[in-house]
Amino acid sequence: MPAQSHDNAWADPSATPRTAIRYDWSLEEIEALFALPFNDLLFRAQQVHREYFDPNAVQISTLLSIKTGACPEDCKYCPQSGHYNTGLGKEKLLEVEKVVEQAKAAKDAGASRFCMGAAWRSPRERDLDVVLEMVGRVKALGLETCMTLGMVDAHQAGRLAEAGLDYYNHNLDTSPEYYGEIITTRSYADRLDTLSNVRDAGMKVCSGGILGMGEAPRDRAALLQQLARLEPHPESVPINMLVKVPGTPMENVEDLDPLEFIRAIAVARILMPKSHVRLSAGREQMDESTQAMAFLAGANSIFYGDTLLTTGNPQVERDRALFDKLGLHPEPIDPDAPDARSDDEQDEIALAHAIQRQRDDALFYDAARA
Ligand code: SF4
Repeated sequence: MPAQSHDNAWADPSATPRTAIRYDWSLEEIEALFALPFNDLLFRAQQVHREYFDPNAVQISTLLSIKTGACPEDCKYCPQSGHYNTGLGKEKLLEVEKVVEQAKAAKDAGASRFCMGAAWRSPRERDLDVVLEMVGRVKALGLETCMTLGMVDAHQAGRLAEAGLDYYNHNLDTSPEYYGEIITTRSYADRLDTLSNVRDAGMKVCSGGILGMGEAPRDRAALLQQLARLEPHPESVPINMLVKVPGTPMENVEDLDPLEFIRAIAVARILMPKSHVRLSAGREQMDESTQAMAFLAGANSIFYGDTLLTTGNPQVERDRALFDKLGLHPEPIDPDAPDARSDDEQDEIALAHAIQRQRDDALFYDAARA
C-alpha cells in the first residue's frame, strides 16, 4: 500500500476524508491527531467510521474466564497475576460442558462472539487439547470464537486455526518505551511474535492496550502507532481503561481524564478505519455520556455480560437501556469490511439492519439466526 503524504489537512474538518488504509503513521502524525481540537477530532473519526461501518451498529462479544488466577506473569494491572495478592482464588481449567453452557447463555442473550480467556503464560500441550475441543463445541453453536491464552508459537497457533478458532486476542498493552514499567516477564518482541504467529496461521487478530496506567500522552500515541503498523491491522482493537484492582501495583495510579480516553478511541478509529474498535475493560466506571462519546468517536464493539475476565462489566440490562437511548443496535454478523462483501451480502446485511431497527422489544436478538 503506497504511503500517503501528510500535511495539516487533518486539522481541517472540511478537508476531503483520507480513508485509505495506511501502515506507516509516524509518531508525530499521530500526536498531531491527538492535539486536534476535540470537536475536530471526533468529527474526523466519525467521518472515517461512517465510510466503513454502519454508525449505529455495535458488535457484541461475551467473555468467559476459562482458567482464572495464579498466572506466572507479572503484569502490574492484572488481578490474575500470581505475583500480587488480590484475593483472587486459583481455579482449574473449566470443564468443556460448563463452557458450552455459558456459550449457549451468551448466544441466547444476543452475543455473536464468544471469547474465552485463560491466565497462562502460554498453553501447555495437554491444556491445548481441551481448549481445542471448546473451540469446536462453541463454534457448533453458531458463535464466532475468540481465545486469549497467552503466548502461542507457530505450532500452537496452527492447531488453534485448524480447530476453527476465528480470533486470537493478545494485547500490546502499552508503548514499547513504557512496557518495561508494566511487565518484566515477557518482552514486547514476544508479544509481536505471538501476533505474527496468529496472523500467519490464518486467524483474525484482536489486539489493543490499556490506558490510564500512568503512561505519558506520547505512550498512548506510540501504542496506537504499533497497532497501526501491523499489516493488516488487527480486526479487533480493544481499548481498555485501567480498572484499578486493590492489591495490584496499579491500585493507586492517577486517573486518566475520560476525555483523553475518548481522544484515544477517535485516533484509533482514524488510524485503523476497518477495525472494530472495542470499548472494553473499564466501561463499568464510565457514565453513559462517556460511553456515548466513545461510540461517537468510533468505538463499535463492546463486551457485555456479568463478567469481563475478573473485572466488573455493566449488566446486560444497563447496556440494553443505553443502546435504546442512543438508537444503537447489535451488529447482526461479524462483517469484514463492507467493501470486501458482495452486493448480495451487503443487501442481506442492510435488510438485517432494517429488520433489527423494527424490533423495539427485542434489542438483543439471537444474532446467529439473522
Ligand atoms: S494479563 Fe494475562 S498474562 Fe498478564 S498476569 Fe494477567 S492473566 Fe497473566
